[in-house]
Amino acid sequence: MVMRTIGNRHTAEDTEDLAVWVRDLKGCPEITQTVLAMCGHAAHGDEPASWFYVEADAEAGVARLRCLSGGHPKDVHDSADHWTFPGVWSCNSCHQSIAEVVVGIHDEAGTAKWLVVAVRCVECGDVAGLTDIVLNDAPVDDLLAALTL
Ligand SMILES: [Zn+2]
Ligand SMILES: [Zn+2]
Repeated sequence: MVMRTIGNRHTAEDTEDLAVWVRDLKGCPEITQTVLAMCGHAAHGDEPASWFYVEADAEAGVARLRCLSGGHPKDVHDSADHWTFPGVWSCNSCHQSIAEVVVGIHDEAGTAKWLVVAVRCVECGDVAGLTDIVLNDAPVDDLLAALTL
């Protein structure tokens, strides 16, 4: 898994800054798309939620997001199929656990091959890559929809 090699500390001002950081990741497949994870559950009305608790396991390549205000779970790709019950991410710097999440995707002509899950601490702006997942030719549109619905 690539994430073990990405350890430099960064901060991001906002989610756009986080997306830039993701696009600049080196030593991994080229990032062709980035998407800000959103929970569009009906409970949020017209304002999708973008603050999450994140459980991720870099060894197993699984990740699950749970929106702060509703706890609605969002499994990244097929993480539920080989879930390892990782603990909730907390910021290395300030130790709180609420994050904004950007997923970077490597796709080839609309077929997603790989993704990486990155977080920005909403308190101090610290950025971290949590896990990457090798995809078995997932349609990129499905992946984008699943992350934003
Ligand atoms: Zn929600
Ligand atoms: Zn922090």
